[in-house]
Amino acid sequence: MSAATLHTATLVRSERLTPPEAEEVRHLVFRREDASFECLAGQCIRVMAPGQYGNRYHPRLYLIAEPDMERDGGIEFAICVKRHDYIDDFTGERHPGVASNYLCDLKIGDRIEFAGPVGYPFAPPSNRQAGIVMIGMGTGIAPFRALIRHIYEKLGHWEGKVRLFYGAKTGLEMLYMNDANKDLAQYVHQPTFRAFQAVSPRPAFDAPVALDEALKRNAAEVWEMLGAPETHLYLAGLQALQYRIEDALAEIAGSRERWQQRKQAIQAAGRWHEVLY
Ligand SMILES: Cc1cc2nc3c(=O)[nH]c(=O)nc-3n(C[C@H](O)[C@H](O)[C@H](O)COP(=O)(O)OP(=O)(O)OC[C@H]3O[C@@H](n4cnc5c(N)ncnc54)[C@H](O)[C@@H]3O)c2cc1C
Repeated sequence: MSAATLHTATLVRSERLTPPEAEEVRHLVFRREDASFECLAGQCIRVMAPGQYGNRYHPRLYLIAEPDMERDGGIEFAICVKRHDYIDDFTGERHPGVASNYLCDLKIGDRIEFAGPVGYPFAPPSNRQAGIVMIGMGTGIAPFRALIRHIYEKLGHWEGKVRLFYGAKTGLEMLYMNDANKDLAQYVHQPTFRAFQAVSPRPAFDAPVALDEALKRNAAEVWEMLGAPETHLYLAGLQALQYRIEDALAEIAGSRERWQQRKQAIQAAGRWHEVLY
């Protein structure tokens, strides 16, 4: 199926993941009657939101939060969308982001047009004893949630260590792990799973999320896992995240050169997966 082909899907569920006092992020479940559609964790769909100023479409990418599941002869899948707005540099006015507001305002039964899926899936390691290190923030949790569900629910008996380092500006914005939605809490009883949350030390000042600190606090285990011959590393979220994470990993490694060598070995073996935006 070509990535340029447009599909339609119907909204069947829209659930707010964050409490009213936090930034709005929604989990949206869509249904397609065509059961041949496939999408996996780590991939995105390109939502063709209605355009403005004479443009037919306003296309924007969204990560798959729940891969395709067959239900009653159709396919359902989910995305996780943060309601975005921006301040116009010139007028100082606040404007709603086009696609994210379109998606967050959809009503049950509304239909979207989209293309894809695009990008490479976050495939799990082929060996159940392999380690998995996931590092991400914000809506970057979406593919990790899908991956965690896949290895514990579909594959089962995962023996390798699974470590999730996940950041948000505040605890309330910790997706799938806050008071409004504790979805990921169901995996804490898995003996191989541990999640480390990182929030900003001073959210009111827009200080960066302390993901690097969470990694450094677990330096020995992280370094041991990244040195093991089968560990896969997954990175998802804002592009800016990558530099802070890599600085922290260089510190954990003892030098930038040592980290680069380890990173290259992981990449060369096809065990490095990232989706940054
Ligand atoms: C690979 C990838 C995966 C992604 N996955 C997700 C995901 O899972 N969930 C998610 O919520 N988002 C995700 N995004 C981000 C998403 O694609 C959109 O960029 C985001 O939702 C904002 O789109 P929008 O149409 O709402 O905002 P837009 O209307 O496109 O506005 C967004 C930005 O455009 C600029 N801008 C537009 N118009 C003006 C103007 N007149 N003046 C000044 N600045 C302007 C501003 O910089 C503003 O910040 C992903 C992006 C990528 C690349």
